[in-house]
Amino acid sequence: MGEIDCARCAGAACTTEDIETTPQLCPRRVTAGAIAEAEEIRSADAEVKRWAEVAADVEQTGYRKWPRVQELIEFCQRLDIEKIGIAFCVGLREETQALVKILESHGFSVETVVCTVNGGCNPVGQALALNELQTQLNVIMGLCIGHDILFQQFSEAPVTTLVVKDRVTCHNPIGPIINRYWRGTLVKD
Ligand code: SF4
Repeated sequence: MGEIDCARCAGAACTTEDIETTPQLCPRRVTAGAIAEAEEIRSADAEVKRWAEVAADVEQTGYRKWPRVQELIEFCQRLDIEKIGIAFCVGLREETQALVKILESHGFSVETVVCTVNGGCNPVGQALALNELQTQLNVIMGLCIGHDILFQQFSEAPVTTLVVKDRVTCHNPIGPIINRYWRGTLVKD
C-alpha cells in the first residue's frame, strides 16, 4: 500500500474545509505542502490558469458529444495553437495520415515524425526534431510503452496522448482492466 490512496476513497471529503474529516491516506494531509504549492501555482501562473480553464471548457462543452480527437481540435483552437507535432509509431502510419488530414482541414500546421527516424526506435530523436521545429503541442500516436515516456521527457512542447498502443486490444488498454475475465488473469495471487 502506498502513502496516499485517493483510488480507494469515495472522495466525499475532497473539498471539505475541515481537514480532520479526510481519510488518513489523503494527499491533503500526507502531502499538504505539495497541495498548497499547487494552489499557489494555479492562482499565480497565468498560463496554467488559462490551460486549466480551456480544459474545463472543452470538457463541459463536449461532454459525451465529442470524441477525443474532436476535443483535441477544440482544445488547440481555444488556446490559439497553430503548429502541432505528431510523434507516431510506424505501425500507425495510415491512422496518422488520417489524423493529419483532419487537423489540416481545421487549419493547423502539422509536423509528423515516425518512431524509426534515423533507422531504429528513436523517441529522443522524435522529440528533438519537433523541438527544433518549435511545435506548440505534441501528440503521441501509439508509441510503445517506454518510448512514450522518453518522448515526453525530451519534448519541449507539452504532450498529449491520442492513441495508447495496445496491440492486443485494438489500442484500448482499459479493456483488460474492466473485463473481469482478463482482470482475473492479471491479478497476482
Ligand atoms: S483527496 Fe482526500 S478526500 Fe479526496 S479522494 Fe483523495 S483521499 Fe479522498
